[in-house]
Amino acid sequence: MSEYVELSDAEKLQLLQEHSFQAPFPTLGQKNWCLHCEKEFDGYSARVWKGGDGSLWLECGTPGCDGSPIDWAPYPWWDPDHPLTRKHEAEVGRQTREY
Ligand SMILES: [Zn+2]
Repeated sequence: MSEYVELSDAEKLQLLQEHSFQAPFPTLGQKNWCLHCEKEFDGYSARVWKGGDGSLWLECGTPGCDGSPIDWAPYPWWDPDHPLTRKHEAEVGRQTREY
């Protein structure tokens, strides 16, 4: 049974920065996408729970979603028609053409 904990903003931001490699959180206001619920959430809404050994774990900010940092991304890459995905791919394409 997991227990949710409240961290200070600074502690939560540090935890996000330590664990969310694919979807960086420079601030708690940063929004990222979750593959589990396919929704956008920000650092403020992300939940933190404590494991049996006292370690802290992050959970997606969408109510009822148990997505974790490995499910998070800066844009919804699973949706090729999403404007953010198109924008990202346009940027990657531009960089490739520059070489
Ligand atoms: Zn989620």
